[in-house]
Amino acid sequence: MPTHLPVVIGPNAIPQFAAFCEANGLSRFALIADDNTYRALGERVEATVRAHGWDVQTVLLRGDDIGADASSVYQVLVALDGAPRTFLPVGSGTITDVARFVSHRTGAGFVSLPTAASVDGFTSIGAPMIVDGAKVTLTTQGPLAVFADLPTLCAAPRPLIAAGFGDLIAKLTSVADWELGALLWDEPFDAEIASRARLAAWGCVNRIAAVARGECDGIEALMAGLIESGFCMLDFGETRPASGYEHQMSHFWEMTLLREGKHSILHGAKVGVGVIASARVYDSLRALSLEDARRRALEARLPDREADVAEIYRCYGPLGPAVAANHAAILDMTQAQLDEIRRRAGQHWDEVQRIAATVPASAQVEAWLHQVGGPVNAAELGITEEAYRTGVNCAHFYRSRFNGKKLARLLGV
Ligand SMILES: [Zn+2]
Repeated sequence: MPTHLPVVIGPNAIPQFAAFCEANGLSRFALIADDNTYRALGERVEATVRAHGWDVQTVLLRGDDIGADASSVYQVLVALDGAPRTFLPVGSGTITDVARFVSHRTGAGFVSLPTAASVDGFTSIGAPMIVDGAKVTLTTQGPLAVFADLPTLCAAPRPLIAAGFGDLIAKLTSVADWELGALLWDEPFDAEIASRARLAAWGCVNRIAAVARGECDGIEALMAGLIESGFCMLDFGETRPASGYEHQMSHFWEMTLLREGKHSILHGAKVGVGVIASARVYDSLRALSLEDARRRALEARLPDREADVAEIYRCYGPLGPAVAANHAAILDMTQAQLDEIRRRAGQHWDEVQRIAATVPASAQVEAWLHQVGGPVNAAELGITEEAYRTGVNCAHFYRSRFNGKKLARLLGV
């Protein structure tokens, strides 16, 4: 296993953070937080830094819907002097992404101080940013280290904990999608990373009662799983191990909210609802007998390019051309490629079944999310039924990565 950056999850994370700074000669900082995360942890980090006689400038992001967007980036740049500083994002995903982006673009490093186990992106080199109303993941940098103060994570608001759980159980569907991609569409695959990602999710699911009660051993398992999922992406060099059809639905709903100027929704909350929908696809694949699958594979036809492009334009509006370009590999599938998928699906249906069996039943996923207090449907998530359905039908166009949904479509399930 590759060596990774230092990660501390525990009750003494802040003293260990100070020791890390001392050992690495870091003494000038830019602390980025919002009012809530400053109260939750930022104040203490600031006091620790000052107690060592180090220099810190604190920037509190303002706004009623703080995003990783132009406003946040500008607030940080305006507030800082020009001195070289190590960034200290104190917060969950958004604040970390703003600091990840600004630190990278200004030639600085950053140390991550999460306040909630809400996403698996803390160690990521990609920063999902909102640019011209669309979400794009920009290549930036990972943190120098992560110091997660466990009591702060345990005291985090319940919706953030539920979101982290949603983002973590997404590995159960994303890895199955990835395995199908390797089996049927020759996508690059790494069995060891796939199994690590699955284990990360199960390690937390096995402690779900403690997570639901907000007990620290459950939250520690949740954060450890999210960090491991982040490492799986780093080791594979892209997001494939951690992001499948469920994430494509989440991105779709996020872009719809952005386009309509609506309030944002937590990443992991959207992903969790996506996991239920993706698990439903695997429910139907598991229900297909070998005979039925072979008959359907024989009847499978090439995607209707014109109809699919029209559907992409209808679902994605102004982003239609870009999404159609992302999806080109599938839109331009040749008869020989289709024949190969049909042959493999028919010949290796037992393997498809083994993969589908690694995904829990959708009813089980729904029960877990309900138990931790996360949303399980469109109404609870805060999107319209129409947006939900369009996401379920159109989100898979977002990328040409293969997944359960694409197989189900080819088989007419
Ligand atoms: Zn995610």
